[in-house]
Amino acid sequence: MEHYKYVILGAGPSGLSFAHTLRLLGEESFLVIDKEAEAGGLCRSTEVDGKPLDIGGGHFLDVKRKDVLDLLFRFMPREEWLEHRRVSKIRIRGIELDHPLEGNLWQLPIADQMDFLESIAKAGSVRGEPEPEAFADWITWKLGECIAREYMLPYNRKIWSMDPNELGTYWLYKLPNVSFRETLQSCLEKRMFGALPAHGTFLYPRDHGYGEVWRRMGDALGDRLHLGEALTGVDVERKIVNGKYQAETVVNSVPWTFWAQHVALPGDVRAAVGRLVQVPIDVDYVADTLPSDSHWTYDPDEAKSYHRILLRANFCPGSRGYWTETNSARAAGEPGPGGFRHHNEYAYPVNTLGKPAAVQTITDWAHARGIFPLGRWGQWEHMNSDVATSLAITAAREAAGGAA
Ligand SMILES: Cc1cc2nc3c(=O)[nH]c(=O)nc-3n(C[C@H](O)[C@H](O)[C@H](O)COP(=O)(O)OP(=O)(O)OC[C@H]3O[C@@H](n4cnc5c(N)ncnc54)[C@H](O)[C@@H]3O)c2cc1C
Repeated sequence: MEHYKYVILGAGPSGLSFAHTLRLLGEESFLVIDKEAEAGGLCRSTEVDGKPLDIGGGHFLDVKRKDVLDLLFRFMPREEWLEHRRVSKIRIRGIELDHPLEGNLWQLPIADQMDFLESIAKAGSVRGEPEPEAFADWITWKLGECIAREYMLPYNRKIWSMDPNELGTYWLYKLPNVSFRETLQSCLEKRMFGALPAHGTFLYPRDHGYGEVWRRMGDALGDRLHLGEALTGVDVERKIVNGKYQAETVVNSVPWTFWAQHVALPGDVRAAVGRLVQVPIDVDYVADTLPSDSHWTYDPDEAKSYHRILLRANFCPGSRGYWTETNSARAAGEPGPGGFRHHNEYAYPVNTLGKPAAVQTITDWAHARGIFPLGRWGQWEHMNSDVATSLAITAAREAAGGAA
């Protein structure tokens, strides 16, 4: 039996950031295990057609969090990254508009602008009506009938492959918040008004894919990282992982679904895990270079299987082509474009109506037993890698009692 203060399940951004923060605090009694052959989780990259491609979908580093940049620049210094001003688009009525739609309706022909403006003017949120509970009603209440029908509802049906009313509204504070007044002003002045969306400025490696920084973080852990080792069991009372690693604290960043397969869970916790939903995505490469300056483009057209296109040539110097992200549960059986494809079985944790209660049940059970839920799958939260990293840094500092 090997003894560690911390056994960390998963070497994605969360597990790697937790482990390195412990190390910076002088704590060496930890082990990280991951089922894959390379560290980085959803943020891994590979080489396709001579240039990097992010196999978990398009990944860009938001610049807002200093603690995150300080940690990542230790492994990939700032000069290895290029800074970009976000250009992202939405395909509506046969043309590409800048994101967010509410701030860029002025890019439509006048008659189309009138349709959208009239419907926003009639939206419940503009008329002071109370906030509805159901997702589809909330979207229409907030953004008006046109944006709901032509963008938000079809896009959400594509990405989640479920009836939007099975989703909660508790996460919609993350949507861009452009007021009706700002929408009107943008149409009159023909420029965007309102708050910039997330990733307004982002970093992407100059000569590598996004996965490079995480691969280096994995390498730097040396024998404290066991790759190619899946979770096969946890003796919860004695905190023994895979029959051979005894921990004071087990840090879990792998989907709880694997715990349900390999660990004896009490009935209520097992039932809660059974209520968690995730969406799988396929990433497909196409060698054509599209005539657009967009970094990525959202496509709500339900006749198309993919929901987002990543225009690699616009953020990865010297490259060509693009890749698509497709909810593979929705597109089941449809062939891809035929080139490189990577399947991610666990891509998006879904914000269903029942998720907060299910996560609470699992978290309460885990905390009471010295098991710490971490990251996208430990918290079943649709968080970006900068958020996952920041939360892991804070959690490791609290656990080890210091400031790295
Ligand atoms: C399409 C898409 C686009 C995204 N775009 C961005 C973006 O632009 N910017 C951004 O910052 N973030 C983005 N994200 C989010 C980012 O991928 C996550 O925030 C980040 O990967 C979370 O890190 P994590 O370590 O919590 O989870 P993960 O990266 O999922 O890592 C979990 C790890 O656990 C391992 N694991 C799973 N099961 C087992 C098991 N049974 N045994 C052992 N190990 C196991 C996995 O192999 C993996 O390494 C995007 C995500 C998706 C899906």
